[in-house]
Amino acid sequence: MTSRNSRAAIVTGAARGIGAAVATRLGADGFAVAVLDLDESACTATVDGIVAAGGRAVAVGADVADAAAVEAAVERVAAELGPPTVLVNNAGITRDNLLFKMTEDDWDSVLRVHLRGSFLMSRAAQAHMTNAGWGRIVNLSSTSALGNRGQANYSAAKAGIQGLTKTLAIELGKFGITVNAIAPGFIVTEMTRITAERLGVGFEEFQQARAKETPVPRVGQPDDIAHAVSFFVSVGASYVTGQVLYVAGGPRG
Ligand code: NAP
Repeated sequence: MTSRNSRAAIVTGAARGIGAAVATRLGADGFAVAVLDLDESACTATVDGIVAAGGRAVAVGADVADAAAVEAAVERVAAELGPPTVLVNNAGITRDNLLFKMTEDDWDSVLRVHLRGSFLMSRAAQAHMTNAGWGRIVNLSSTSALGNRGQANYSAAKAGIQGLTKTLAIELGKFGITVNAIAPGFIVTEMTRITAERLGVGFEEFQQARAKETPVPRVGQPDDIAHAVSFFVSVGASYVTGQVLYVAGGPRG
C-alpha cells in the first residue's frame, strides 16, 4: 500500500463553502487534491490556498451530473495527480419550496446534482479504488434527510444518499473501500445565506435562531465537516463503513 501522502483525492463542489474547507483539510492531511466544481476558474482560490500551505492541488471544471464530463474529469485527475482513491461527493444545490409550489424543474435539478452526481462520480472513481485495493468515499447527506419543511426535493435526495452510501459500502467493502456519509446540521455557507434570504430573515438573525435551538449552542462551520471527513478517509478508519455521522451540534438520526 502506498503512503497516505501520495494519494489523490477528489472533492466536488469545492470552489467554496464546505467543499473548499474539506479540500483544504485534505491538502493539509497530505493528499493531492482535485478541487472540482462547475466553473474551473472559481476553484482558483481553494487551489491557491492548498498550494500556498505546501500542498498539491489542481482545479477541475465539471458538472457532476454529466456522465461524459465526470468520466473525463476523473481520467484527468488520474493523469495529473495519480489514481483518485478518495472521493468526497459534496456538490449540491437547493431549490426549496412547499410541495404545492414545487416545480418539476425544482425536483429534477436537486435530485440530479445530489443523487445522480454522487452515483456518477462514485461509479467513475471506483475503478481506480478497486485497482488500488484501497479507497474512501464520503457522501454529504444532511439533517434534512429526516424531513424539513420546504425541502421535499432536497430531503428526498439526502435520504437517497444514505441508501446509496449503505449499498456502496456493502458492494465495495471487499476491495478495501469504505463508504460513509456525513449529515451536517446548520453550517454557515452561501447555501444557508440563500435560505435566510428566501425566508426574508437577516443572515445573522437566522444564525442566532439556529444556534439557540442547538444543544451545542452555536452554528456549524465548514471546518466542523472537514474534520469528520478527515477521519473517514484516514487509514485507521478502515473498519468504519456504511455509517451516517450527524455533525449537527446535537443528537439526530
Ligand atoms: P455551497 O456553498 O452552495 O457550495 C456548493 C458548491 O457546489 C458550489 O460551489 C456549487 O457551484 C457546486 N455545485 C453545484 N452544482 C454542481 C454540479 N452540478 N457540479 C459540480 N459542482 C456543483 O454549499 P455548501 O453549504 O458548502 O454545501 C455543500 C454540501 O453540504 C451540499 O451537498 C449540501 O447539500 C450539504 N449540506 C450543507 C449544509 C449547510 O448547512 N450548509 C447542511 C447539510 C448539508 P455553483 O456556485 O457554480 O453552483
